Amino acid sequence: MNFLITGAAGFLGSALANHLAREGHQVRGLDDLSAGDPRALSPDVHFTRGDVNDRPKLWTLLQDVDCVYHLAARVSVPESILYPREYNAVNVGGTVSLMEAMRDVGVRRVILASSGAIYGDLEEQPLKESAIPAPRSPYAVSKLAAEYYVRTIGALWGIETVCLRIFNAYGPGQHLPPSHPPVVPHFLNQALRGGTLVVHGDGRQTRDYVYVDDVVNALIAAATAPSINGLIINVGSGTETSVRELVQLVREVTGREVEVVYNPRTSGGVSRMCADLTLAREKLNYRPSISLPTGLRLTLQRDPRFQAIT
Ligand code: NAD
Repeated sequence: MNFLITGAAGFLGSALANHLAREGHQVRGLDDLSAGDPRALSPDVHFTRGDVNDRPKLWTLLQDVDCVYHLAARVSVPESILYPREYNAVNVGGTVSLMEAMRDVGVRRVILASSGAIYGDLEEQPLKESAIPAPRSPYAVSKLAAEYYVRTIGALWGIETVCLRIFNAYGPGQHLPPSHPPVVPHFLNQALRGGTLVVHGDGRQTRDYVYVDDVVNALIAAATAPSINGLIINVGSGTETSVRELVQLVREVTGREVEVVYNPRTSGGVSRMCADLTLAREKLNYRPSISLPTGLRLTLQRDPRFQAIT
């Protein structure tokens, strides 16, 4: 098949692009490199640097494409609180631009990388797709708005759509920006460098951590699965892990006695998150296979940044 992946030079985009190219598909990648690194891409991926709001570029890149993966986005919850306009422009505006361009060119299917963050702080766990979203950050609002635009424009113009609500993905190659880094690579990095782990709140807040290969399998299944047009489907591990448990696992896999500081004055964010995977199992035959301890070990083994420290 012919694919276009937006955000292809990012953490999930590059893993997906390389996987599809290895399977022999034609893969085009678009990324403005605001966060991504094109060196993560195999030479078989046809990479173009550009903005997802650049419709003339999209018209060219979409020619003969069967399926689009829309991953280009700004991805930090805390950053979105500081710069909501930017998050709206890229995550919402970029999605609308892409849908318009897909309508103009005539592409069959689009798969949106949405987020478990759209649920917010809901009591009933595990989180089902039918739960009423209660987003708590501009990032979460932007992903929810993107879902609505994808599904609405798709339904109006006969484009098949699938929105995957991805929970906390982690694995080799995940970006480690100096401010607001994602928790898994940040804790691993701190532990290996003898730094302190700062836990916001009391550390009892839970997340659903899902290894990158499992996410890629779900994304790939969504390209060809039948009878999923218009659906929203959770992609997680189905397992709830508290930050305290994550700290303990980081100690075990790194073999380092890390110091932990709890900062009760900062909020730990949403208190519980765990994905209900019933729909993913039924529609995508999705079976996450990498447990968190295994995934953390694989991350240490496969990410050159961590190998350089160990
Ligand atoms: P990432 O930051 O590594 O990837 C996003 C990519 O989009 C980056 O390479 C960035 O350069 C690119 N980009 C940003 N603005 C752009 C623009 N205007 N035009 C073109 N490219 C642009 O993040 P990721 O973790 O790989 O996330 C990929 C997608 O999956 C995002 O849509 C994110 O919201 C979604 N998602 C990720 C997770 C996770 O845990 N990693 C969870 C839920 C949803």
